[in-house]
Amino acid sequence: MEYESLDEFRERAGYLIDGVWYPRVTSIVSIKAKPALYRYYGGMRSFKAADDAKEASAREGTMVHEAVEAILNGTHEPVPATIEPSIDAFREFLRNNHVEPLLIEERVVSRNHRYAGTIDALARINGVVGVLDIKTSKSVYRDYGMQIAAYIAALTETPDIEQPITSWVLRLDQCRTCQLCGVSLRTKGGVFRVSAGGKGCLHQWGPMEGRFEFVEFGTHAHDLNAFLAAKTLWEWEHHDLLSQLS
Ligand SMILES: [Zn+2]
Repeated sequence: MEYESLDEFRERAGYLIDGVWYPRVTSIVSIKAKPALYRYYGGMRSFKAADDAKEASAREGTMVHEAVEAILNGTHEPVPATIEPSIDAFREFLRNNHVEPLLIEERVVSRNHRYAGTIDALARINGVVGVLDIKTSKSVYRDYGMQIAAYIAALTETPDIEQPITSWVLRLDQCRTCQLCGVSLRTKGGVFRVSAGGKGCLHQWGPMEGRFEFVEFGTHAHDLNAFLAAKTLWEWEHHDLLSQLS
């Protein structure tokens, strides 16, 4: 079982807002199969090793989110050394773009569709207002569109804010590059992963360096349709738990 008790389900899969329980966007999108995740599990020495690394990786992701939010809020908190290169990349992104945060780490609710989530930021970037989602993954996946479309739909129900007209994923990453062949080494979650190529090279790794990838997702009606379809499936999957909640 994914959830061991009704309390755990209530706590982890949703938010209680003004006395009403709403399922979380991130829980809903998790219903969709992710083939890349199966390949990741398959490539590890055991299920437990893969699970531990995934958890360590999630902790690093949380640290990056916290540091980014602190910077957007203008508070200067010390950045843990392990994620410093990723945060350097974020600072570089800020130097290269005009970023004005409007909302940071904000709970959003769709009462029409009955779900809630937390956006990383609503920001005006280079003059355009949009939802900004921070990722620390290996690449930018198309799946993110579902999550972001859900946030945008919830924001359209939110009064007194500047409405987003687009959305972006900012992927923050850090890796070491081989000085000889140019392949990269990621160590996220304590797992050492070398990118493809560089066969036969006795790699000489340079320093850990941050990098960012900024991708515009826009606002896509078919992403919201996919999210709402995922929600229907999620509700079907958790029917018994949901019926006990009400
Ligand atoms: Zn090399």
